[in-house]
Amino acid sequence: MLLKKNILIGLTREELESFAQEQGEPKFRGRQLYTWIYQKRATSFDQMTDLPAAWRVKLAEVAEVGALELARPARLTRDRSQKFLFTLADGLRVESVYLPDSPGETVCISSQVGCALGCQFCATAKMGLFRNLSVGEIVAQVLEVERRVETKLTNVVFMGMGEPLHNYENVIEATWLLNDEHGIGISARRITVSTVGLVPGIERWMQDDPPAKLAISLHATTDERRAQIMPVNKAYPLDVLFKTLRRFAHFTRDHVTFEYIMIAGLNDRREDVENLREWLKNIPAKVNLIRLHPTGSSLKPSSDAAIDRFMGWLTDSGLRCTLRESRGIEDEAACGMLFTQEPFKPSKAKAWEKGAE
Ligand code: SAH
Repeated sequence: MLLKKNILIGLTREELESFAQEQGEPKFRGRQLYTWIYQKRATSFDQMTDLPAAWRVKLAEVAEVGALELARPARLTRDRSQKFLFTLADGLRVESVYLPDSPGETVCISSQVGCALGCQFCATAKMGLFRNLSVGEIVAQVLEVERRVETKLTNVVFMGMGEPLHNYENVIEATWLLNDEHGIGISARRITVSTVGLVPGIERWMQDDPPAKLAISLHATTDERRAQIMPVNKAYPLDVLFKTLRRFAHFTRDHVTFEYIMIAGLNDRREDVENLREWLKNIPAKVNLIRLHPTGSSLKPSSDAAIDRFMGWLTDSGLRCTLRESRGIEDEAACGMLFTQEPFKPSKAKAWEKGAE
């Protein structure tokens, strides 16, 4: 019979200490494991040279470090971004994207297999939600990508597949592991979690104060238009969201980033700037404009001229804005284009057909 091995990646220092003790070793061996896995980025027990040789052999029988396998060689695009397709232990697949100099060495990671939120413009939404990723599956994306691109990563953005605040606990635990200076060591200012605006998650965030920044996917300035493209707006309309965000801004004492996909005729009008100005009153905000990437929906991207004009209006009304460079489009690795197409297990086909649960 095949015994299921313990996957160590994703375990905290305390959990690794308990694991070592369960294996009949002293507690400090757990700390050594922690350092090897996260700080020294070891992928096999052979590399852990300060562990007793006999224990290393035993460890290899009962445990493994990693949680992901690369499903196929990464694809390199002309703009040097790379899309990685990983197979999880149960055969499902997720994607991570390496974005060099954007700014810093950035990896865009997934928090769920698929997504339940159903945003009209997003390819991942079409999959429906399969399941949450574990802490290990989240953290492993960073370490696996780093190993394969052979460059130290400096920035992590939770902007891949899934809604991070819909997998709140695992995502928050992952931010602690990513940030620990005795472990992976990514600066808290360089870990960004992007959300559609799940208000209960934002409330919890203020209590837990994780080492990361929050970005809000706004994309429209009236309830009617936002609900048209983002069903979540029916549950958390703009006044509810912004009431929470006002408290959030006060709490973080930092600016809040708003992502805003430019969609022709829907959100690139003069009155959208007026509305934005009202919503963003008393919130130190940065508006991050994104070109709509093609995902087969009927929505049309704003023209370059319309984007320029919109940026001018924003700047004139005193709002800070930037236009995000679109990377990875040719390999469908850009924002909102992540979609794992093959293979699905037959048992999962139903979830696929039904869409979001
Ligand atoms: N669920 C989270 C994180 C994943 S999406 C969220 O929505 O914030 C990361 C960013 O990509 C979001 O701002 C999302 O709105 C954007 N995005 C989704 N589909 C897109 C598309 N077709 N073109 C451009 N950006 C898109």
